Amino acid sequence: MKVVLTVAELRGLLRPARRAGQTIGLVPTMGALHDGHLSLIRRARERCDVVVMSLFVNPSQFDEPDDLEAYPRDHARDTELAAGAGVDYLFAPVVEEVYPRGFATQVSVADVTEPLEGQHRGIAHFDGVTTVVTKLFNIVQPDVAYFGQKDAQQAALVTRLARDLDTGVEVVVCPTVREPDGLALSSRNAYLGDDERRAALCLVRALRAANERYAAVERDPAALRGALHAVLAAEPMARVDYAEVVDGTTFRPPGRLAVLAVRIGATRLIDNHHLGDPL
Ligand code: AMP
Repeated sequence: MKVVLTVAELRGLLRPARRAGQTIGLVPTMGALHDGHLSLIRRARERCDVVVMSLFVNPSQFDEPDDLEAYPRDHARDTELAAGAGVDYLFAPVVEEVYPRGFATQVSVADVTEPLEGQHRGIAHFDGVTTVVTKLFNIVQPDVAYFGQKDAQQAALVTRLARDLDTGVEVVVCPTVREPDGLALSSRNAYLGDDERRAALCLVRALRAANERYAAVERDPAALRGALHAVLAAEPMARVDYAEVVDGTTFRPPGRLAVLAVRIGATRLIDNHHLGDPL
């Protein structure tokens, strides 16, 4: 695996592969790698001749300066894990390489970005995501890009962006990887103290409760939403940003995607599940 710091070098390295008609896969990450990230790399490795992983803590998608400051960074560990999972090129630019002086362009996706995360974190969060993903698509020009269902609304808006801008990039959305007890893997789980880690299980418990109601042929949107809220309300350490059952493309009701954002202490966690699927 080669670590690449600049856009120009990465372009140069990928040119021969592209000319030879090889398939290029891209896995965008912010580092602090866990098995969720590694599952995306493995999927890319199965199908692509060349696998590029980007590691960039994108300042423009953080809505809270403290969150950006505190975000876990461990370059040495990430490099080792990425190499072990089969990455060919680890693209790890500094902020000035991605946003040079005078940078003034923004890519914005409408509609799907507005509810839920858009409402709670502000639209600037998703504008940060779509702008950096567009740049990565232009830099790498991948055939396929891999995203996680864990960030369901992000995966949906990237899929929309890839189509709307005729990028030619196929967006593959991979299933959420969970801890044995059900907690969705997240770089932010590292912030949780022992009590908080226990309390964080209320997210998957809420999804399971709604899933059980759905399996019992409950289809009333208010009842399914109620099942989420009942579990979350029973956890004293949880403060709910939202818990809704929405359509997995528009992120508005009605639908069968249960989506949650919950604060446990200072840590904001998100999770989701397609009701009716095993959990
Ligand atoms: P991040 O580093 O948090 O920006 O995440 C990079 C990519 O990994 C995104 O496409 C995420 O959706 C995906 N991802 C994060 N957590 C998980 C998980 N538990 N399972 C599967 N994919 C994940």
